Amino acid sequence: MAPAYDVIVMGLGGMGSAAAAHLAARGARVLGLERFGPVHNRGSSHGGSRITRQAYFEDPAYVPLLLRAYELYERLERETGRDIAVLCGGVMLGRPESRTVAGSLRSARQWDLPHELLDAREIRRRFPTLTPADDEIALYEARAGLLRPENTVAAHLQLALRHDAELRYQEPVTRWEPFRDGVRVHTAEDVYTAGQLIICPGAWAPGLLADLGVPITVERQIMYWFQPRGGTGPYLPRNHPVYLWEDAAGVQIYGFPAIDGPDRGAKVAFFRKGSVCTPETIDRTVHDHEIREMADQAAARLPTLPGTFLKAATCMYSNTPDEHFVIARHPLHPGSTTVACGFSGHGFKFVPVVGEILADLALDGTTSHPISLFDPGRGTPAPA
Ligand SMILES: Cc1cc2nc3c(=O)[nH]c(=O)nc-3n(C[C@H](O)[C@H](O)[C@H](O)COP(=O)(O)OP(=O)(O)OC[C@H]3O[C@@H](n4cnc5c(N)ncnc54)[C@H](O)[C@@H]3O)c2cc1C
Repeated sequence: MAPAYDVIVMGLGGMGSAAAAHLAARGARVLGLERFGPVHNRGSSHGGSRITRQAYFEDPAYVPLLLRAYELYERLERETGRDIAVLCGGVMLGRPESRTVAGSLRSARQWDLPHELLDAREIRRRFPTLTPADDEIALYEARAGLLRPENTVAAHLQLALRHDAELRYQEPVTRWEPFRDGVRVHTAEDVYTAGQLIICPGAWAPGLLADLGVPITVERQIMYWFQPRGGTGPYLPRNHPVYLWEDAAGVQIYGFPAIDGPDRGAKVAFFRKGSVCTPETIDRTVHDHEIREMADQAAARLPTLPGTFLKAATCMYSNTPDEHFVIARHPLHPGSTTVACGFSGHGFKFVPVVGEILADLALDGTTSHPISLFDPGRGTPAPA
């Protein structure tokens, strides 16, 4: 008997919703299974904004994927009519030798990406909210900006449904096993069969994908919204870039313009300063000392930003040891199962191209996109 579905997608967050949309658009019979509801705030794809940029300090190998992700994000907005990307420009700030600045410059030069280098005086002149030290510089990228994660997930779910995918919510997968030429997937409600399974479980990966051979550490992260002193005017997207700022001690903060109207503040956060957690045990309360620490860090660099604290929310990173993603056929089940996990706090800007890659791997067994960096068998060197 033929399996009921061509592909089952497990997890309909950022990556899974994109995979479901790409698969369904190619005519595959798709079943999506999600633990929570559509577009929820208990995983890694919520909080109103995500930075996108092309001059990628993490590794130049990401740049071709980013170029494709930009095309696909544009197409997603066109096809769904949703407001997703705000390309307000972005500055990568720090000392010239910092990873944030030097790494961004390396990618920009290697891929010939349009960019400008600004000294401290020029940064202060163009963006008066930012007060860099005299020895700090910035790589400015006009094509950088932000993406709205909830709208992205909603858009991909909308496209998946438009192409007849079946999406089931509040239905966590409890286990799966090889079955005939494909897989059998169990939930509390039912048992489903498919030719292919794609597993994109976000922060649930450590429990579900322990046999991948890549240790994934889940971290609690906090996003903070402040109403700037003197109002949001200078922080509006037409005046304000996204920023990622590394100080002399290597502490990185990042933030956004005020995108949600005059009273909703601007978001700021630490990059990679989380505490280890699990999706079951994460402390969702944000404590006063944490708010004070963020306000102090922000005040040192954007003195008007921490005017009034408005709100904070938690989110999870799923970190691999080298902070590169895992996207591959499952090494123990290469004929039937594909995995996408370990996005290490920088995956959102890639969401639609990851969807495309997952559809390639599930339907064709291979992809023309360069993904060798994401092979689970790559070993675990420290971040460059
Ligand atoms: C605070 C914060 C800031 C970030 N900032 C940026 C940024 O500026 N730029 C950027 O590019 N990236 C950023 N990221 C990273 C990016 O958001 C993530 O890499 C991305 O959202 C991960 O998507 P995902 O699909 O892997 O996880 P998720 O979106 O969490 O999706 C996983 C889904 O799987 C479901 N699931 C789990 N187990 C099961 C099961 N057994 N059965 C069914 N469903 C299941 C979950 O409910 C969830 O919906 C940030 C992340 C955080 C937390």
